[in-house]
Amino acid sequence: MKILIAEDEPAFRRLLEEILVKWGYEVVVARDGNEAYQVLLSEDAPKLAILDWKMPGMEGVEICRKIRRDAGEFYTYIILLTSQQRDEDLVIGMEAGADDYIIKPFKHNELKVRLRAGRRIIELQDELLAAHKILYAKATHDSLTGLLNHEEILSILDKELARSGRDGVCASVIMVDIDHFKMVNDTYGHLAGDAVLRITAEKMHSMERSYDSIGRYGGEEFLIVLPECCLECAVAFAERLRSCISQDSMDTSEGLIPVTISLGVAVSGKEGRQDGHSLVKAADAALYKAKENGRNRVEVAA
Ligand code: GH3
Ligand code: MG
Ligand code: MG
Ligand code: MG
Repeated sequence: MKILIAEDEPAFRRLLEEILVKWGYEVVVARDGNEAYQVLLSEDAPKLAILDWKMPGMEGVEICRKIRRDAGEFYTYIILLTSQQRDEDLVIGMEAGADDYIIKPFKHNELKVRLRAGRRIIELQDELLAAHKILYAKATHDSLTGLLNHEEILSILDKELARSGRDGVCASVIMVDIDHFKMVNDTYGHLAGDAVLRITAEKMHSMERSYDSIGRYGGEEFLIVLPECCLECAVAFAERLRSCISQDSMDTSEGLIPVTISLGVAVSGKEGRQDGHSLVKAADAALYKAKENGRNRVEVAA
């Protein structure tokens, strides 16, 4: 594990470095407070730091305060080093955000066990962060297709509309619905139906631009949000999607299944079409028109 030593006394710094390297740490050294602060702000910064209290530039306690104030995604476990032994120093150091405190000169074993405690906290913090990421992904994505879920795609649409309103550009949405999907389920079974949903999602996902978003709106309906995309570009994209889905039958465990989709396109900015709700409603109406007009086609909201 990477560890920062910030210590202005060369002999003591070297001693610390030697011990920590021996214990298997990857040591980063700073000779004064400013250098230490920069190291802790850098990308891939050590999550474990031993900071001398008295240093030129910036004192260890000051670094603690700043790091805690600007706390990023990762937690830095900080041990303050001091030769002062007054009780109030301990309080000041801990209130500044230090996790632990070591008085110079220290026993090697004492430092070893305190570092072990720090490592445990960091590992727990990493696990917590990883668990949080997984939960966040689950809460915002659809488990069958891996696309964004209903709530998330609508929330992205609202954000995009607010942004495009501010920037004076338009955004478009496409509502997609698989044609005669009930028949797919009835003919090939629900598992094959699930596979068709997954393959349709994959194909659409592979065609989106990096700043577009696709969500599973409901059963076999998908909502696509296209920021900074005018009506012509949205219709062209919808047409490419339609053609890509209908081109090749989908390979499932129940054999090849031909699939087509119908699409409704709506662009923001029109009178009464500034909010997500009305834009989705307009795209939905266009989608129904596509169904009425024979399916496997793109229609634009009036
Ligand atoms: P249309 O062309 O008019 O859209 O006809 P459709 O059959 O696609 O539309 P309908 O709304 O009648 O049927 C949609 C079907 O989608 C009914 C429902 O059982 C199925 N469905 C919804 N969610 C899932 C799912 O997660 N997996 C599977 N296999 N089927 C689903
Ligand atoms: Mg010092
Ligand atoms: Mg439907
Ligand atoms: Mg359908």
